[in-house]
Amino acid sequence: MKRRHFIAASTLPLLGCEKPEEITGSFTGINHERGHLLRDNKTWPSPSVTRKTDVIIAGGGVAGLAAARALRLQGQDDFALLELEDTAGGNSRGGAVNGIACPLGAHYLPLPSDDAPEVQDLLEELGLRRRVAGRWEYEERHLCHSPQERLFFNGAWQDGLLPLQGVGAATLAQYQKFSGLVEQARSAARWTIPVSNRPLAPVQRALV
Ligand SMILES: Cc1cc2nc3c(=O)[nH]c(=O)nc-3n(C[C@H](O)[C@H](O)[C@H](O)COP(=O)(O)OP(=O)(O)OC[C@H]3O[C@@H](n4cnc5c(N)ncnc54)[C@H](O)[C@@H]3O)c2cc1C
Repeated sequence: MKRRHFIAASTLPLLGCEKPEEITGSFTGINHERGHLLRDNKTWPSPSVTRKTDVIIAGGGVAGLAAARALRLQGQDDFALLELEDTAGGNSRGGAVNGIACPLGAHYLPLPSDDAPEVQDLLEELGLRRRVAGRWEYEERHLCHSPQERLFFNGAWQDGLLPLQGVGAATLAQYQKFSGLVEQARSAARWTIPVSNRPLAPVQRALV
């Protein structure tokens, strides 16, 4: 089954829910008005600064920041990174709740194996990895060992990210089928990040 077919099939039962739980609270870290400026065709203030540059990077999420870093490493400094929000980071942006630092979205990075030298280099550049007595050590303060994920669903917390309470036997069977397929793909080929570091096996190509 293709990933998009799985997602379409697994969201259908949600559409049939009779009375959705009321969600209180709001989104944080993003400004909807700014995001909708283009859609709503609002008038824009005139530019206060005009600058010419060789490369424009649209968006300062992880992808945009990685592009900026790649350019800098190649000695290309004539670029501008444009970000809609007040701070960079996108979905990986951090924040604080009641004075305690916390992630606002993405928050963990698996320890990179030797298949991912680019990620290892980045962590070294950030001062999070260093050589001690011939061995690599990672800065423990930034490590997240065995991330534990919980989901707030139907008014209660549960372990894991898949909704379990009251979902019905058909949905549970879908979960099992999906996890079987993932296990099958996992044992059929080795996965690396970035995927471009290793030629894709047939089972991986089938998912692209
Ligand atoms: C809840 C959640 C948790 C996740 N947790 C993890 C995790 O723990 N580990 C992990 O590896 N991955 C995680 N992911 C996935 C990861 O967050 C994303 O893959 C990654 O952040 C995507 O980065 P990006 O730069 O492509 O996009 P984004 O992070 O979305 O960045 C896009 C940037 O572009 C800006 N932008 C948008 N429109 C404009 C415009 N018109 N002009 C200028 N700027 C604009 C936005 O403000 C934003 O800063 C998670 C995803 C979600 C949703």
